[in-house]
Amino acid sequence: MIEIKDLHKSYKMGSNSLHVLKGINFNVEDGELVAIMGSSGSGKSTLLNILGMLDEADSGTYVLDGIPIKNLNETKAANYRNKFLGFIFQSFNLINYKTALENVALPLYYQKMPRKQRQEKAMKYLEQVGLKEWSHHLPSELSGGQKQRVAIARAMVAEPKVLLADELTGALDSKTSYEVMELIQNINDQGNTILVVTHEPDIAQMCKRIVHLKDGVIVKDEKVKQVRAKVNV
Ligand code: ADP
Ligand code: MG
Repeated sequence: MIEIKDLHKSYKMGSNSLHVLKGINFNVEDGELVAIMGSSGSGKSTLLNILGMLDEADSGTYVLDGIPIKNLNETKAANYRNKFLGFIFQSFNLINYKTALENVALPLYYQKMPRKQRQEKAMKYLEQVGLKEWSHHLPSELSGGQKQRVAIARAMVAEPKVLLADELTGALDSKTSYEVMELIQNINDQGNTILVVTHEPDIAQMCKRIVHLKDGVIVKDEKVKQVRAKVNV
């Protein structure tokens, strides 16, 4: 699904340059649940932004589902993003004047899907994340965990090839984090490919593979015995 080879990225700041990714190599197969783990500043978000076509590497290659991602203009990058990728962020990034249902339906609006179909599909995904009863509520009326579930439904609604999550539990308490990760595991059980960026070992252990990033290089890439959450709801 994802093949990256010798990826480098530096940030230019005036006359200085900060070399953040120093030759990253890894592949992700269809259906994997991979954590990219490293301490703050190790380059996780930089890597995820490149995988998400929100930014470009300085050198190296990136192939997504057989398509080389290179020199894309913004229109093409936006098209690929909408078609291939679903994003989940630490800060949820919901639109606060839109209901849960409207937030989830938004990617379908950009695809010009008719309103009725959009709402039906969005409802199906809200149901999948356990928020059927909350469809007409605004984000301000939802808990952190519920907001992240809405964001997960929104990331899935256009049926992307890969879900990319950047510190998706970073704003949640530990019980809620486990519940959200349990949902991620269930979504992965259905065959979806998911990359979870995190600095938290407990979260990484709930994935099936951990790629350890340190100072812009992969220092370890291991399959792990997935910890399944045991939460008393
Ligand atoms: P992580 O997500 O692992 O915390 P980041 O990829 O966000 O790490 O950042 C890696 C390094 O790159 C940090 O030192 C950070 O300050 C720097 N950095 C990130 N984004 C930018 C940017 N847009 N411009 C300059 N430096 C940046
Ligand atoms: Mg980060």
